[in-house]
Amino acid sequence: MERTVTVSKKKKIPRGKTFPYSQDSIRRVPCSRCGKPSFRQWNICSLDGKFFGVCKGCDVLFNEVVLKFMRFTEPQRSKILEAYRENQKYP
Ligand SMILES: [Zn+2]
Repeated sequence: MERTVTVSKKKKIPRGKTFPYSQDSIRRVPCSRCGKPSFRQWNICSLDGKFFGVCKGCDVLFNEVVLKFMRFTEPQRSKILEAYRENQKYP
């Protein structure tokens, strides 16, 4: 089971992992945002460079945030995200 840190009585935040999860083990990790099974992992520098699992939906939202940060504008941003969703091989 994933080790967690209790932030409040309702929300538990996974601690993350120093090394990347394997393709098989990532599915057993709860999404760091919503708790669903993870599909991808993100390496977050501000959290000691640890790896955190994210589910399909949160991965797309995370990518959208990054594209906005990188100043991709519409309709380019939507086209990129649509292509990303279609190219993902969801189990
Ligand atoms: Zn999620």
